[in-house]
Amino acid sequence: MSSELITVAYLIAGILFILSLGGLSSQQSAKRGNFYGIAGMALAMAVTALHPAVTGYAVLVPTIAVGGFIGAILAARVAMTSMPELVAILHSFVGAAAVLVGIASYLDPHQSQQGVALLIHEVEVFVGVFIGAVTFTGSVVAFGKLRGTIGSKAWSLPGRNYWNLAMLALAGYLGTQFVGQENHAGLSFLLLMTALASLFGVLMVMAIGGADMPVVVSMLNSYSGWAAAAAGFMLGNDLLIITGALVGSSGAILSYIMCAAMNRSFFNVIFGSFGGSSPQSSGRTQEEQGEVEAVTSSEAAEMLGDAQNIVIVPGYGMAVAQAQSPLYEVVKKLRARGAHIRFAIHPVAGRLPGHMNVLLAEAKVPYDIVLEMDEINDDFSETDLVLVIGANDIVNPSALNDVGSPIYGMPVLECWKAKQTIVMKRSLGSGYAGIDNPLFYETNNRMLFGDAKQNIEEILAELQQVAQAA
Ligand code: NDP
Repeated sequence: MSSELITVAYLIAGILFILSLGGLSSQQSAKRGNFYGIAGMALAMAVTALHPAVTGYAVLVPTIAVGGFIGAILAARVAMTSMPELVAILHSFVGAAAVLVGIASYLDPHQSQQGVALLIHEVEVFVGVFIGAVTFTGSVVAFGKLRGTIGSKAWSLPGRNYWNLAMLALAGYLGTQFVGQENHAGLSFLLLMTALASLFGVLMVMAIGGADMPVVVSMLNSYSGWAAAAAGFMLGNDLLIITGALVGSSGAILSYIMCAAMNRSFFNVIFGSFGGSSPQSSGRTQEEQGEVEAVTSSEAAEMLGDAQNIVIVPGYGMAVAQAQSPLYEVVKKLRARGAHIRFAIHPVAGRLPGHMNVLLAEAKVPYDIVLEMDEINDDFSETDLVLVIGANDIVNPSALNDVGSPIYGMPVLECWKAKQTIVMKRSLGSGYAGIDNPLFYETNNRMLFGDAKQNIEEILAELQQVAQAA
């Protein structure tokens, strides 16, 4: 394939990636966006494989076949609740690839650059390997935290920011020693820096508590893009640079959006209070909070049947229970009886940006009754009933009134302002941030304990019976 044709194909693939990102920005166009992304990637892979410099087809073809097969099986089997872990581990692959490409590119015996070009190449290798190693180990720890293998609580060394600064300074020193060495003699400095950056990635993500994980996931997404862009520089591949920059910058914008949604600064999430310790919640015990009042599913069905203006707040528990389809059946029944029903979506509900929107779209809930937090938060005082289904941290009032709470300052759905709330979950256990929720003890709240799907199905059966009897 001629180099002109390759350039044109890369340009088309780049445009397809931009169209893909544009499409993914709204639910209505997300399928189309996904299609553009697939088409762009297929074109990119085909053109790269047809590059005149590529000759090892005996290795390339089976590798792509095996990788594609494993990827297809994993994607087909993954449950919606495990999607965040899958995304995290895929980020780690990009990081690992950048490290390996960097080391291989440094050791390349055909390397012919000289003078300033060689210096620039060495800096690209060093920076690319650094970002790749941080992304790799950071994503592996994020994978463990999202899977629950590693506890979601923040863990850090005393004076962690001084350690971080010392490690960054040492990496900088190793960089000065690495560049300009003859006959690959800088390899030991490169490998030492790789070990240091790997440790940095582990410590950085370990130190981030449960409630801040959305920012970490989007931040690692951004890093994986920069790691890919760095690999593009090392390999001299323009499309990889463009794609990496697109992923890197869209991940950075997503991190910014997540920070804004949580009312946190990016710096604060990553570095915490410099040299200080985390604030402690006032941590009232369950006895101090009072009693909770439980209802049965038939009582909940009756309360829903009596309410005119209803808001439903879905959270991670709805994803675990896979309750979205029967929930929409309940919504249809209540709407048929004249109730006004809307869904309220918190930006960090679930375990992925847009997690709840995807589940509701899968259940075919119309988009016009699915509202973002900012669009609905002022309406709770005029709401008869709020049904909280498997949500916890996103409806925790201590985010507004407990200065010691780890989520203090994060905007939440202020559902307790409604006349009545029903919280559906299996126990009084805490959410992902590991903190108690005073909402459960509010006098206008009722708890509907048990698996969300089972309870919703019982409510549906109850409503059907009432409809048949009428
Ligand atoms: P939470 O994790 O705070 O709470 C979910 C609740 O669902 C749990 O308390 C659990 O209670 C309940 N639950 C679990 N399984 C079931 C079931 N089968 N039936 C009924 N209830 C169930 O989720 P939220 O959505 O409220 O908040 C999201 C949290 O995740 C935030 O802290 C956010 O920062 C964090 N996060 C978000 C990410 C994102 O990008 N959106 C990424 C990473 C973290 P019980 O065990 O008692 O049933």
